[in-house]
Amino acid sequence: MSPVWRRELRRISYLLIIAFVIGYTSGYHGWTIAAVLTLYLGWHMLQLSRLYRWLAAGQTAHLPATYGIWGSVFAETQRLQNRSMKHQQRLQAIINRIQDSTAALQDAVLMVDSQGNLEWWNQAAQRFLGLKAPVDVGQPITNLIRDPAFKSYFNQGEYADPFTMTSPVNKRIHLQFNITQFGRRDRLMLVHDVTRLKQLEQMRKDFVANVSHELRTPLTVLSGYIETMVTHADMLPERWGRMLDQMSSQSLRMEAIIKDLLTLSRLETSAKEQASPVAVQPLLEQIAADARALSLDRGHTIDLTLDGPVALLGYADELRSAFSNLAFNAVKYTPDNGHIELIWRTTAATSETPQAEFCVKDDGVGIAEHHIPRLTERFYRADPSRSKETGGTGLGLAIVKHVLLRHDGELVIDSTPGKGSCFCCRFSQQRTVNEL
Ligand code: ADP
Repeated sequence: MSPVWRRELRRISYLLIIAFVIGYTSGYHGWTIAAVLTLYLGWHMLQLSRLYRWLAAGQTAHLPATYGIWGSVFAETQRLQNRSMKHQQRLQAIINRIQDSTAALQDAVLMVDSQGNLEWWNQAAQRFLGLKAPVDVGQPITNLIRDPAFKSYFNQGEYADPFTMTSPVNKRIHLQFNITQFGRRDRLMLVHDVTRLKQLEQMRKDFVANVSHELRTPLTVLSGYIETMVTHADMLPERWGRMLDQMSSQSLRMEAIIKDLLTLSRLETSAKEQASPVAVQPLLEQIAADARALSLDRGHTIDLTLDGPVALLGYADELRSAFSNLAFNAVKYTPDNGHIELIWRTTAATSETPQAEFCVKDDGVGIAEHHIPRLTERFYRADPSRSKETGGTGLGLAIVKHVLLRHDGELVIDSTPGKGSCFCCRFSQQRTVNEL
């Protein structure tokens, strides 16, 4: 038993002894004991009510001093209270420091709860997104950032890739959103100002487009002269023949590169117009015929299988460019007498909803696995000497990638060196049309 309890028991014993003595001398045993116990109980009730008042008042003042068991209870409670206050102050200091440092951040930071409601944000978020305290606290974030693309990005819950949009308060500011989930589906949003990067990217695009455009005219003039010289080669000394052939093939290559660069910059910069249904059969029949013409006397077998939706929602010129790049690559990288298949079909292989895909399969040289992720980079070639031999620009697959981006599609490449390759353009079901 603790000394506090022992003292309290001793106190009760003394009280009872006194009550007995008084009761014995006065002859009122019962009344005296009852009066002493009532006084004792009253004293306990008084201490209890003091403790209650102190708790109800928010524990701001010090607990009043008292004696007996209540003295120990008050002292212990006060000690716990002091400790918890110190702990709270320490935590508050940490929170203040974190808030001060995030408030000073250039990037916007927002905390959104599991229901998608805004909990907290810093000053940069106020600046970039026009949030207002305290009215926006607890509001759904998708009501505050009213961009349909942001809404679908936020709601789909998959944040591996960042999302970019212009600021709702200033269209000249480009913002990149990175969302991290924590706790129970709470979300931390970091919003970074990428305006400068966008400007640089735009400058790069403009530069490539302008250079390509500016080079086109002088090159056309040069090619024209070279062609004239080739047609009149018999009038020139014999040793000029090889030189002229080289000049002619190199100028054709340069023209092809410029044409592809211009196509790429158009794909990158032009706004998406209204997509319209593009009939697949005539498009692929024409591409198959062009591929056969390119193969000429190399003996390739080129088969076309049409087993998919009637049409694709998109842009006819862009789809023609992408599909023919794949078909012509197959002709270029398949040895003579090889077999090439152009297949248009519906597949459910990669998702629950069926997709439409255009695949070009060949039994040509194939590509080593480590090249595959980089093939759609500009000027990346798995086999540079073969590519140059075939007159490749190194831009074909970059064009395919951009066209597919504009059609919400993806390029899937499967290849085995020495056995052949399969390039598939996959389109979502929303892009397919079953009746024209
Ligand atoms: P290029 O103009 O050089 O063909 P592309 O961007 O069209 O450029 O292709 C990039 C590279 O991918 C090519 O250089 C080639 O090495 C490889 N490639 C493309 N298609 C095929 C194919 N059907 N078979 C083998 N390799 C291919």
